Amino acid sequence: MRLDKLLANMGFGSRKEVKFLLKEKRVTVNGQVQKNGSIHVDPESDRIEVDGERAVYEKYIYLMMNKPKGVISATKDSRERTVVDLLSKEEKWFQPFPVGRLDKDTEGLLILTNDGELAHQLTSPNKNVEKTYFAKIKGRVTAEDAEKFQQGVTLDDGYHTKPAKLNIIASGEQSEVEITITEGKFHQVKRMFLAVDKKVMYLKRIRMGDITIDTSLAPGEYRRLTEKELNYCL
Ligand code: URA
Repeated sequence: MRLDKLLANMGFGSRKEVKFLLKEKRVTVNGQVQKNGSIHVDPESDRIEVDGERAVYEKYIYLMMNKPKGVISATKDSRERTVVDLLSKEEKWFQPFPVGRLDKDTEGLLILTNDGELAHQLTSPNKNVEKTYFAKIKGRVTAEDAEKFQQGVTLDDGYHTKPAKLNIIASGEQSEVEITITEGKFHQVKRMFLAVDKKVMYLKRIRMGDITIDTSLAPGEYRRLTEKELNYCL
C-alpha cells in the first residue's frame, strides 16, 4: 500500500497534509526518514513512525449506523443509494459491508465492518443472535398474537418461525410493539405480522445481540463501535 495513502488512512490528515508531514521529514519507515509518499509499504511488517511514535495500522473497521429509510443494505448498486454510499472516504477505504440486511424502508441499527468472522458470528443461523425491532402495526395487536409468536408462526412459504418475543407497548387502531427474533429470513417481521393478518407500517431495529442503537445518531449517521460494544460481539 502507498505510504501516503496509509498515513491518511491512519488518521494523519488528508493526502495533502500527509505530503507536508513527509516533506518535513517527520515520517520514518523501518528507521529511515521517508519523504516519498508514493513508495509501497506493508502496514503489518514495516515499522512506520510519525514524530518518533509508532503509527498503528487498523485492519478492521466496525461501525454502527442508524440506517435511514430509502437506502439499501448493500455495498454497491447501479440505481439505488446504498448504506456504504453514506460513509465518508476514510471509512470506505476499509471496504466495509453491512452485517445482515434491513429492508429499504426499515430504519435503525446496522453494523458495518470488513471483518468477515465477526459478520458470521452475528448472522449465522445457529448462533441465535437476538434482534429486537420497534414496529408500528396497523390494527390492534393482542396478547393472543404474542402467544402465537411465542409458539412460532407459519409464513407464506410454509416456514414455521422459531419462538419470538412480542412486547405490546400500545394497542389500538395503530399498535406499537417490540419484537425480538433470532432469525433473519427475508422480510421476516413483516411476514410474521402478515401471518396474523396485520401489517407493519414502520420498522426500526433497535438491538442486535448486546448492541443497542445509539439514540444520539440521527438517521444516516454512524460512529465506530466502542471497545465495549465490540467485545460483546467477539
Ligand atoms: N424484518 C423485516 O420484515 N424487515 C427488515 O428489514 C428486518 C426484519
